Amino acid sequence: MQIFDTIESLRSYLLQQKQQGKRIGFVPTMGNLHQGHLSLIKQAKSQSDVVVASIFVNPTQFSVGEDLERYPRTLEQDQTLLIEQGCDVLFIPEVQTMYPKGELTRVSVKKISNLYCGASRDGHFNGVTTIVCKLFNIVQPDVAVFGSKDFQQLAIIRQMVKDLMIPVDVQAAPTYRADNGLALSSRNGYLTEEELAIAPAIYQILTWAKASVQNKQSQAQIEKDAQAKLVQAGLRPDYFHICHADTLQAATDEDTHLVILVAAYLGKARLIDNITFEI
Ligand code: AMP
Repeated sequence: MQIFDTIESLRSYLLQQKQQGKRIGFVPTMGNLHQGHLSLIKQAKSQSDVVVASIFVNPTQFSVGEDLERYPRTLEQDQTLLIEQGCDVLFIPEVQTMYPKGELTRVSVKKISNLYCGASRDGHFNGVTTIVCKLFNIVQPDVAVFGSKDFQQLAIIRQMVKDLMIPVDVQAAPTYRADNGLALSSRNGYLTEEELAIAPAIYQILTWAKASVQNKQSQAQIEKDAQAKLVQAGLRPDYFHICHADTLQAATDEDTHLVILVAAYLGKARLIDNITFEI
């Protein structure tokens, strides 16, 4: 695996690859890689000739008081996993490379960036769209793979790519779950053993809510009951919303393509998950 930490060196390597007619796949991450990330690499590999992963803990997507400093950084282990998965290129820029002195620009997708996670995490999605736009401009991939686990993030990136006419095919990879249903996440590492036993309740409650929506029960009541179930399980709900899967607006009785989005606090972690379905 080729490793680069400067924009120039990565660009010059990728230019050679592109000149040979190679198709570039891209998977941006913040590192501390797990099977969820690796499933994205695998999907990118199936769609391209050269797979580029990036590891960058992006400061602008963390709000004040969040876990930027203690976010797990496990570069050596990540490199081993990427090599095992057959990743071709790893980009690991420093903060000053991505945000050089004097930079002034932020990329902001209006409306959907302020909903749900954006309402709880001030400026979070502007940080995400800014860094993903920069990375897209550096790598210029043919295809980029993002996890459905971060459903709102995926919707916002798709909107950005469409609005800014960025020539990249954005693909979604399914959420990778442990056998007990818990969506893999770097933030699961913050959980104690006791909390790890509680966390799978999130997916159980999503599954229950999906069945209840399909059984035509009142959506407002389902949202209320789901929050109560989260509390009963030992979590502190941030939000639980039944939405239209494309617009992310609150679902109406006529909508058929739905997603349920949830965020909840558990110990030192804030966990998110979702479930999509048709009715
Ligand atoms: P992160 O390192 O948390 O920024 O995530 C990098 C990419 O991995 C994003 O596209 C995430 O949606 C994706 N990802 C994280 N966890 C999972 C998971 N459990 N299943 C699938 N994709 C995931």
